[in-house]
Amino acid sequence: MGLSKRSIQKLNTCHSDLIKLIEAVAEDEKCAVICGFRGRYEQEKAYYAGKSKAKWGMSRHNLKPSHAVDVVPLPLDWNDIASFEKLGEKIMQKAKDLGIKIKWGRDFKGLKDYPHFELV
Ligand SMILES: [Zn+2]
Repeated sequence: MGLSKRSIQKLNTCHSDLIKLIEAVAEDEKCAVICGFRGRYEQEKAYYAGKSKAKWGMSRHNLKPSHAVDVVPLPLDWNDIASFEKLGEKIMQKAKDLGIKIKWGRDFKGLKDYPHFELV
């Protein structure tokens, strides 16, 4: 299956463990990477749009390389929580198999961030 060119570009702004993990998941799952590293402007835009709780410098997306990645199931339907759950479970299981410690944004208190995975 694999990832689109745009997804790979975004994934390549991430930590090597996240690249390894998402590439492995994308072999079996149809998914897209919608965010890797986020610069100051993008972070503040996300913050004021209510898409991120973090101001610039407070998000793991702001580290270089990024310690967070946002991944969505394809075809993308933001209301289809079940498919986000399914993809998320696969990512968490694969991380465990590869010995990569990550946290899932679904498990955050408050704003549930289904596409978000970050290194611990
Ligand atoms: Zn994120």
